[in-house]
Amino acid sequence: MGVKTYLFLPDGGWCRRQCKQKIGEGILPFTFSRLQKNACHVAHYKQARGGWRLRITADYHTHTVYSHGKGSIEDNVKAALKRGLKAVGICDHGPGHLFIGVRGEGALRRMQEEIRALRYKYPQIGILFGVEANIVDLDGKIDVPENLLPALDILLLGYHKLVRPASVRAFFWLAANLFCGWLKFHPAWLRRLNTAAICTAVRRYPVTAVTHPGLQVDIDTGKLAAVCRERGTLLEINSSYGEKLDEYVRTALPHGVFFLCSSDAHTPERVGDFAASFALVRRLQVPRGRIVNLQEDDREKQQE
Ligand SMILES: [Zn+2]
Ligand SMILES: [Zn+2]
Repeated sequence: MGVKTYLFLPDGGWCRRQCKQKIGEGILPFTFSRLQKNACHVAHYKQARGGWRLRITADYHTHTVYSHGKGSIEDNVKAALKRGLKAVGICDHGPGHLFIGVRGEGALRRMQEEIRALRYKYPQIGILFGVEANIVDLDGKIDVPENLLPALDILLLGYHKLVRPASVRAFFWLAANLFCGWLKFHPAWLRRLNTAAICTAVRRYPVTAVTHPGLQVDIDTGKLAAVCRERGTLLEINSSYGEKLDEYVRTALPHGVFFLCSSDAHTPERVGDFAASFALVRRLQVPRGRIVNLQEDDREKQQE
């Protein structure tokens, strides 16, 4: 089975060995068998000082047809197995989203049952039941029913627009975010409210990771990173947004917070696709020890 690995070439550009192929942005997604055939690039990698070779161990943020993903839970599990992952997280959008959320608590329970059955069918991989929760009020309230929280293996939390507000105050706050977002206008008072709500949510719930912070609404990333560090909550390096996330990772780094790379796959084909995350990790020189689901690949050493 071809395990997906990524080859980082710090100088990018062209392979300087005999093949002279274009290497693109300095990242080559290779299956291990292809890597062996491509001895030329491997030699280049070994030659390049500071080159990294990283391996994905788990993708905790994937979507299915229960929200607006394209594949079933089983499709994502099969895709994760194909990629050689040790675990896959099924985290569809929380029920508070007006258009793409999971259809209520009943659907969440059905997902839980389906995952339970799939664990017997695929014992070789960890299948985690989770939600990508939405913040629905200024006090950090999320859209996952309290009684369901103990059943979750993983709780992701992220700002999304167009969620159902839990109070009148929340309605005006969410509407302000919507309009200011459209107008690309970021008043300080709104940023303060957004930051306070998400920080309260991180303190209030057992949040595993905050998804794509700073992307949908304006927040003070430094403050959030400090709270996440204190609570042991991870910040996500999401593979679906590329360079848009550079600024927040740069701001979060000095706070000592830990990161989680994820695909945010909405199709089974993208499960375990970390290319954009790795590009960011390389661009910003994020220390590998700060990313919880990556390992250095030692199989090359075993080969020698
Ligand atoms: Zn989505
Ligand atoms: Zn998502």
